[in-house]
Amino acid sequence: MTPTPTPTTPDGARIEHDPYGDVDWERVTRCRSQFHLHEPRNELDPRSPDHDPPSTADADDGRSSPGALVDKYQRAGYGALAVTEHEYFVDGTKHKGEPFVEALDTTTWPWTEWDRECDPDGTVPVQGAELRGTLDGLDRLHDLVSLDNDLGHGRERSLRAVATDVGDRGGVAFLPHPGKYVDPDDVGAYVDLFEAVDPGTLFGVEAFNARDRYPSCRAIWDALLAELGADRPVWAVANDDYHARPRPAGAERFDRSRTVLLVEERSPSAVVDALSSGRSYVQYDGDGAAPRIDSVDVAGTTVRVDAPDAAAVRWIADGSAVATGAEIDVADVTGRYVRAEATAAGDAVTCTQPLYLE
Ligand SMILES: [Zn+2]
Repeated sequence: MTPTPTPTTPDGARIEHDPYGDVDWERVTRCRSQFHLHEPRNELDPRSPDHDPPSTADADDGRSSPGALVDKYQRAGYGALAVTEHEYFVDGTKHKGEPFVEALDTTTWPWTEWDRECDPDGTVPVQGAELRGTLDGLDRLHDLVSLDNDLGHGRERSLRAVATDVGDRGGVAFLPHPGKYVDPDDVGAYVDLFEAVDPGTLFGVEAFNARDRYPSCRAIWDALLAELGADRPVWAVANDDYHARPRPAGAERFDRSRTVLLVEERSPSAVVDALSSGRSYVQYDGDGAAPRIDSVDVAGTTVRVDAPDAAAVRWIADGSAVATGAEIDVADVTGRYVRAEATAAGDAVTCTQPLYLE
């Protein structure tokens, strides 16, 4: 394929890579998605839009099936889901710290086990698992969410080896809650990992997890964007990491963080392609509702975000807010990318993916 030349401008920066460049904003479906979910640890109500179980629930009250989890998200308007159980959790039993046995190499799949299928109007099922691997400088195993393949256990290999295995099986992967493991000023091991693994396989990091458990995830994402630039894109995802466990008030997870995919077709391949190519934006509702993005358009050196429900839009370049308002002229922006955050009441925020600058 011949690369399409980017139009140059006489002065200042130009857009080198715009993940929304091919998006037809009138045609696409905004597909609310979760790619980091767990089998229910407790009883949940598939008809309720609220976090289940309530904080007062007895933790041993029994467990709903993954099918009930799928139903709950489908009712909440989700168009694509992956149930990504921990590599050490099989058939309702935790095997953390135990030696690897082949029986652990399994995924929560297929959905037909709970009589849920991929139907044209239903939710697109994606196979997945939350695997683990070693990372330089880290004295414990690091999680890796693996999607669209059958690998069910990392076997304590390096994250690089696990991610490569995922790619060899035709899957894709991202790093969940990076703020759990590293500081934003110490992302060297991540930089090495992203440079070592194919961008079509290891495509990104989680920018929001659950009720924003690790706010430094955005700073880590920004550090990677600044360090790696357009040569090695890193796209954000956001996920509930829902386990259907009782959570205290203010820590409820259901339907708080999500990835919104821009897809023209409802199929597993369209979903995975949009996800791993950055044709998406991510949302965190906080105590409100994250604004929808109507479009992200580039004209010359001007980038415009249309988010009619947003109270404000701020632009981030190299980790700092550099402008506010719906438009930014990137001619004067130093750094390797810009991205927008559209905010609303209750700490709600929607983040676009980065547009890379030359
Ligand atoms: Zn998890």
